[in-house]
Amino acid sequence: MSDYGLLVIGSGPAGVGAAQAYVQAGGRGPVAIVTADIDAPYMRPPLSKEVLAGSSPAERTPIDGDLPDEVEVRLGASVTSVDLDARTVTAGGDTLSFDRLVLGTGAKNVPLPGVDADAETFSLRSLDDARRLVTAAEHARTAVVVGSGFIGCEAAASLARRGVEVTLVTSEAGPQVTRLGEFAGARITEWLVTLGVQVRTGVHVTGIAAPRTVHLDDGTTLAPDLVLVAVGVAPAAGDLLASTGLQLHQGRVVADEYLGAAPGVWVAGDAARALNAAAGRPIPVEHWGDAEAMGALAGSNAAAADGNQVAWDGVPGFWSEIGEHVLQYWAWGDGHEREEVVARTGGFTIWYADADDVVVGVLTYRADDDYERGIGLIAAAATLTEALAGRRVDEEDDEAQG
Ligand SMILES: Cc1cc2nc3c(=O)[nH]c(=O)nc-3n(C[C@H](O)[C@H](O)[C@H](O)COP(=O)(O)OP(=O)(O)OC[C@H]3O[C@@H](n4cnc5c(N)ncnc54)[C@H](O)[C@@H]3O)c2cc1C
Repeated sequence: MSDYGLLVIGSGPAGVGAAQAYVQAGGRGPVAIVTADIDAPYMRPPLSKEVLAGSSPAERTPIDGDLPDEVEVRLGASVTSVDLDARTVTAGGDTLSFDRLVLGTGAKNVPLPGVDADAETFSLRSLDDARRLVTAAEHARTAVVVGSGFIGCEAAASLARRGVEVTLVTSEAGPQVTRLGEFAGARITEWLVTLGVQVRTGVHVTGIAAPRTVHLDDGTTLAPDLVLVAVGVAPAAGDLLASTGLQLHQGRVVADEYLGAAPGVWVAGDAARALNAAAGRPIPVEHWGDAEAMGALAGSNAAAADGNQVAWDGVPGFWSEIGEHVLQYWAWGDGHEREEVVARTGGFTIWYADADDVVVGVLTYRADDDYERGIGLIAAAATLTEALAGRRVDEEDDEAQG
């Protein structure tokens, strides 16, 4: 007899969503979440926004929907080995056995090369990181943020909003240009500059010397009171899972459209490289809502009989807040060939298409209508011409049904 009917590794949205859905679906207990996190499950999105800006305290915001009482949460318990044959994991010195396993191990920040071991740099992934960063920000007059992904941009805006003089340093031609294109990059730059952020593009950090001297490849140096490194993430458990026999792709666990990675093992969220049934190809995602939804699916599939598995077919998406500006995005996220910008009253929409002119993404700013119809168009593989002509898939479906 196993210790646990379901064991979940990770207390992010994927892990919590899985435990909630498994219990709701009547899965056999006991159920436990084992997590390296020292805090009970919490929301990450506010950490780079209102928490860093100082408008909310650096405290835990619980994840939506309570965890059922019967779910045991083992905090500060890093899993150090997983044995799928013996159906056990080792965490914090204990060996726990399971019938079914959900992997929700998420991602960790990648380090910046060339940083002295004793340099004082910060990164932001956990609530504990946020507590340390906020304490440093309270005493900082100047800051350098390295990296112009969403976390770098949000953090630069938030630090500026709390009155810190911020320089954002990026090797990209503009913030987010690689993912979202030049138009979006120019708008984000404007928003950051309006908040007082100095944006230095096309420069590489060659090293950071202790305590906080940032060397750039244009020969200049910066010596701020605070350095935040936000240069991207990598799967957190690639090394841990390498010896399990699970198939990995760049550290992510390869899964079928039911999020199954091996008999009795499911994976969800940032840790997964799962086949998306609507896209017809594997889609890696790093978004909060998708991790939650994939987790819920993994949990209900873990509770269901083999023939009753439900496929993952959601179009990934997220919102990002850069100061007071909210960007909304739906996309498969694995690239585009062209983009078409449409001006909207006080805002804009960018449609992204592949080489066949099929819509693969949409970014909107104060253009809710395009955001709402965008998800349907992406799921239906509509063409760019149809998107620009105002096609709505949801209405057509309603008409067909009515
Ligand atoms: C500051 C910040 C702001 C963000 N804002 C947004 C946003 O506005 N919108 C959006 O869509 N996305 C946002 N994201 C991204 C989003 O938070 C992630 O995509 C999401 O958290 C992924 O969920 P997950 O459950 O897969 O992994 P995670 O949330 O990373 O959770 C992984 C869990 O696994 C645990 N773990 C890992 N390895 C082990 C191990 N060996 N043993 C035990 N436990 C382990 C970790 O401790 C953690 O509890 C933000 C991320 C950050 C850091």
